[in-house]
Amino acid sequence: LKCGGRKDVELNRNITQALIEIVGPVNFSDSLIDLVSYSYDASDHDRRPEAAVWPQSAEQVSRILSLANERLFPVIPRGAGTGLAGGAVPILGGLVLDLCRMNRILDISTADRLVVVQPGVVYAHLEKELSRHGFFFPPDPASGKVCTIGGNAATNASGLRGAKYGTTQDYVKQLEVVLPDGKIMRTGSRCLKSASGYNLTGLFVGSEGTLAVITEITLKIIPKPTSYRTGLAFFDSLETASQTVVQVIQSGIVPSILELLDDNSIKVLRQYGNMTLPDARAMILVETDGFTQAEASYQMERVTELFRKHGAVDIQTAVTSKGVEELWRARKSVGSIAGRLRPNNVSEDVTVPVSKVPQLLSKITAVIQKYGFPFVIFGHAGDGNLHPKIMYDRSDAEQKRNIKSMVAEIFELTCALGGTITGEHGVGLEKAPFMKLEHDEAALQTMLSFKKILDPNNILNPGKMDFHY
Ligand SMILES: Cc1cc2nc3c(=O)[nH]c(=O)nc-3n(C[C@H](O)[C@H](O)[C@H](O)COP(=O)(O)OP(=O)(O)OC[C@H]3O[C@@H](n4cnc5c(N)ncnc54)[C@H](O)[C@@H]3O)c2cc1C
Repeated sequence: LKCGGRKDVELNRNITQALIEIVGPVNFSDSLIDLVSYSYDASDHDRRPEAAVWPQSAEQVSRILSLANERLFPVIPRGAGTGLAGGAVPILGGLVLDLCRMNRILDISTADRLVVVQPGVVYAHLEKELSRHGFFFPPDPASGKVCTIGGNAATNASGLRGAKYGTTQDYVKQLEVVLPDGKIMRTGSRCLKSASGYNLTGLFVGSEGTLAVITEITLKIIPKPTSYRTGLAFFDSLETASQTVVQVIQSGIVPSILELLDDNSIKVLRQYGNMTLPDARAMILVETDGFTQAEASYQMERVTELFRKHGAVDIQTAVTSKGVEELWRARKSVGSIAGRLRPNNVSEDVTVPVSKVPQLLSKITAVIQKYGFPFVIFGHAGDGNLHPKIMYDRSDAEQKRNIKSMVAEIFELTCALGGTITGEHGVGLEKAPFMKLEHDEAALQTMLSFKKILDPNNILNPGKMDFHY
């Protein structure tokens, strides 16, 4: 095994035996079928690990990391493996630490407005439990049916409701983490406010398993709205639609969802998704929410007024749940339907300040058209986060080369607009080479120092966020 450039260390029988002693034989595997399953996530990368364990407690994680530091083998924390940036791929081999069996909700306190969970709790399961109490944890990634809260915290995940409700980092109050040397540490506070000390919680949120293993998460929860309105508007130009998004946000109304889909998305949905949509150049899908019907309706009326004022050619609002489902089907299926156009695809999550969305859209469209790949662009325009999805065939060397150059151009133009290379998927393997477009040398060096202080032997998820080390 290679670890941080050190000489190879076999995951030999002694190490295997020590791991089995820590987690028990049923929570250890080096069988081929498990190792193949753990060789990939939802990105385009893969590499087989040497073994996998399912720890049951922070103490077990602590003993595993101590052993890894002593014997110098890589440890790769893993939730559900839905990451799109290659964060959970054991790119240097080693031991996969699957947290899925630490999956209990430990405490729901509506008085304190918080929930305490183990990292392997699945987002949708937590949602269901919280909704019984009339509360929710809003980030709502599209992968919510399977992804874990540990993975959400490690990647700072978010979703459709980011513009109104923020991202995972806005909700993480406290963490229990195991540091690479095996120390168990608690960060943050259960209190609604705390001004005590450096924000260590913030350091670990979004650290993608490179600084510590998250073994417990305390999340702020908020009351779940009880009334919703959904609307759909079609435009005869992408520029007009994207300017309308800016106008909506500027108006002071913050819809709970404000999604934009380009003309290619509409074509794909009409042609392959069997959906009856007008032949328009862009569409906006919007949801407003509140605690009374009047509140949700008032916001929807203001938003549809703006749609009309800015030249929407067709506006539909849905009140029945069947109508709403139909509207959401369009948005939720566009990525997977477009994916059928070629064997492979890249799906980016570039993000800019909302006022720059129109520029980002037209520049990305021009770059992709220059390379000639089929593509769709859709995304959470209300928080500036767009998903260009570009289809290609990786068995064709020229297409593979061109995709790389094109993605680099997309990152460059995004950063030139004051944006970020990743709004929600994280850096992982995919975006590490582009971190310098967004962060200055001092910031990169500071990140590097944190890694060196916490993980001098580079045993924790080596090769990830690897912009320097
Ligand atoms: C169809 C689809 C839709 C998606 N939609 C969204 C979306 O809307 N918004 C969004 O933000 N993302 C989305 N994603 C990406 C992905 O689901 C998120 O990044 C999610 O947070 C990953 O959770 P996971 O449990 O699968 O983590 P993994 O993929 O298993 O791991 C992700 C990273 O977190 C680290 N990690 C996992 N658990 C821990 C832990 N306990 N301690 C320390 N590090 C840990 C891993 O090492 C890795 O670096 C989508 C993915 C797919 C396939």
